Amino acid sequence: MSRLWSPLVHRLTPYVPGEQPKLPNLVKLNTNESPYGPSPRVAAAIQAELAAGDGERLRLYPDPNADLLKQAIARHFGMQATQVFVGNGSDEVLAHAFMGLLQHDAPLLFPDISYSFYPVYAGLYGIEPRVVPLDDGFGIRIDDYLPDVAGDAGGIIFPNPNAPTGRALPLAEIRRLLQARPDCVVVVDEAYVDFGAESAASLVAEHDNLLVVQTFSKSRALAGLRVGFALGHPALVEALERVKNSFNSYPLDRLAIVGGVAAIEDDAWFRDCCARVVRSREALVSALTGLGFEVQPSAANFVFAHHPGHDAAGLAAALRERSIIVRHFRQPERIARFLRITVGTETQCGLLVDALAAITTA
Ligand SMILES: *Cc1c(COP(=O)(O)O)cnc(C)c1O
Repeated sequence: MSRLWSPLVHRLTPYVPGEQPKLPNLVKLNTNESPYGPSPRVAAAIQAELAAGDGERLRLYPDPNADLLKQAIARHFGMQATQVFVGNGSDEVLAHAFMGLLQHDAPLLFPDISYSFYPVYAGLYGIEPRVVPLDDGFGIRIDDYLPDVAGDAGGIIFPNPNAPTGRALPLAEIRRLLQARPDCVVVVDEAYVDFGAESAASLVAEHDNLLVVQTFSKSRALAGLRVGFALGHPALVEALERVKNSFNSYPLDRLAIVGGVAAIEDDAWFRDCCARVVRSREALVSALTGLGFEVQPSAANFVFAHHPGHDAAGLAAALRERSIIVRHFRQPERIARFLRITVGTETQCGLLVDALAAITTA
């Protein structure tokens, strides 16, 4: 607290990211990064950018529109570059969407159990949040978002697959929502879609109220590069550009632009990494189930699990003593008995399962 702070800053409750400890030999399963590296073409492209004139290119500002990256993303999805927006991680893309597309006089609808950045952005931009409870099985029920149940809405946002539950929604349900709410922007946050859900990108051409947000941080193993993007009708993209150009004209630096292009163009590497994560996830789910855990069906690169005989905070603490970190959310109450565990390499998952076996039978 300081008398020098703005009134807004006094009211903020900032997001708390999962920790990034600087300990060696840690089995880090707490922030859903990829356990495998990015395409080797990413480092090659970044090195080539740096090598040109001995770093001489860094003297100049990057392309404010990151056209090469937008074009590469558009090609990948079979779209026009005018349907693509890029930002410094998808969190920044989401922030601009909150300000440019979701800030209205009516409330913003999102699930009670969801990405905890949504209420933070709502607070930052003075948007009234209205949380919609998941059903008893932790599923998003689209009926609860329709006008006759939820009333007036200024916008809707949810992750698909949802975080931290990992559950995916079928495309037909998203289409039904888009049709029932033609005057309201629906943001589908697809941070984890590549691990087993259907992307709503194919609906962008038919629905001018849909914004699909994706990131290079998870399935393209580039959390450290900070590249995210949105796909939507050119009018929605223009709104995001207007916000971006009123905030920071150069959110993507030269290295992020060339690295991002290389990553999206190496489709074989990407598919292979996603397939390995899915295989590792399936093995992890069956091992956890064997230890007595109840595991939510996951379409993501993490699993959401609880053990009927053990307190989740206690399990997380006991894992930490063995240098394994997972994520435990104390709030909301409904999920306090769960752990969210990132799918690691086969070796990391093996270490986790061995540790849990020792802890739960001790
Ligand atoms: C990880 C994540 C993001 C943000 O990722 P960036 O690294 O900022 O691109 C957005 N939404 C959800 C649900 C996430 O889990």
